[in-house]
Amino acid sequence: MSADRTFSVAIDGPAGAGKSTIARALARQLDAMYLDTGAMYRAIGLAMQRAGIDLEDAAAVAAGVDDIPISVDYLGGEQHIFLGDEDVTGAVRQPEVSLLASKVSAVPHVRERMVALQRQIAQGHSVVMDGRDIGTKVLPDATLKVYLDASPEVRARRRCLELAQKNMPEPYEKVLEDMKQRDWLDSHRAASPLTRADDAVVLDSSDLAPDEVVAALRALLEKALN
Ligand code: C5P
Repeated sequence: MSADRTFSVAIDGPAGAGKSTIARALARQLDAMYLDTGAMYRAIGLAMQRAGIDLEDAAAVAAGVDDIPISVDYLGGEQHIFLGDEDVTGAVRQPEVSLLASKVSAVPHVRERMVALQRQIAQGHSVVMDGRDIGTKVLPDATLKVYLDASPEVRARRRCLELAQKNMPEPYEKVLEDMKQRDWLDSHRAASPLTRADDAVVLDSSDLAPDEVVAALRALLEKALN
């Protein structure tokens, strides 16, 4: 890989498609920064719930976001997300925070603030970023754009496994239903809905192991850089 050029990889797709596993591994192999943008919307959702803000009230959500002391830091090479001094990296992974994130992320002012922060964090670095609007909005000039997909059943099974490994097991049917609800909200909102960028490569990871997806993306990036 050419080390003399910074690059950016945008990975978008629905929940459970394997974006964070792939993006993290790719960033590590390429010595690039990894930014999990979902964690940022999760932290905003968590902070608003704690503050007692009604997440169905878009005006209240928009008015509250500027007061949230959100920041991202890298400790031992891993992304951590903070609300003030509190490290909420673990707390935002709780299953119930997923829907809170989907709700706040539909509010345009929340998105404006997060997109600005994401661009600021990535500035000057080679970066692999994953989310829903990275190729369409955050990094429209990304070196490589990927839309990572998988069938809902495969995605739900993967999410179940991930939750079980984190000691937060949830029944498959519930995970599948929650995931479908979140996908619907994410792809039907007015502000930057989940959609494939015209110039994104579509990859279905249903029958691929993470290593195979990472290798495919490395090859695509190599090509894009040459
Ligand atoms: O990726 P993750 O599942 O952690 O994202 C949580 C939620 O945050 C998504 O369901 C989506 O509503 C929102 N999100 C977003 N834009 C991004 C990343 C996440 O709207 N770039």
